[in-house]
Amino acid sequence: MTFRFGQKSIERMAGIHPKLLAVANDAISASLSDMTVPDMGGMRTLEQQKSLVAKGVSKTINSMHVKQKDGYGHAIDLIPYVNGKVIVNALTKQDREHWYDIVWAMKYGAEKNGLSLRWGGRWFDPKINNVKYDIRNIKSRSDIEKLIIGNSFMDWAHYEII
Ligand SMILES: [Zn+2]
Repeated sequence: MTFRFGQKSIERMAGIHPKLLAVANDAISASLSDMTVPDMGGMRTLEQQKSLVAKGVSKTINSMHVKQKDGYGHAIDLIPYVNGKVIVNALTKQDREHWYDIVWAMKYGAEKNGLSLRWGGRWFDPKINNVKYDIRNIKSRSDIEKLIIGNSFMDWAHYEII
């Protein structure tokens, strides 16, 4: 089965960098799990970002979701969408597998479009401190779980251009 973004997701992706959009579209068409863009999962205004930080949902005002110097948003959030429901946690192995399907599909999309992409489950290179980790370096689908750092589930939906 081939998945495509629904109308709401398409609207929410308005304003993100065209290459990131291409990655997301290639990813969903190759993904084993369907996915959706949540509210404010695409480009955000500074006011929206400030409100998310105030709520504790986001950590920084300097989010890549906010319009960057080139006029585009450089981040996207993607959440598994299975049997008509979004998967908002990772409590079971089955839940986690849907999240990993998206990571693996985004890696494919990033490779296809030649874009360096960072995933919120793994911010830095496992071998080099403070170097951003490009998901194109993931060798196999089964490695994804090993890359995740501790308590970072909140960020699993997040992808941003390096
Ligand atoms: Zn995000």
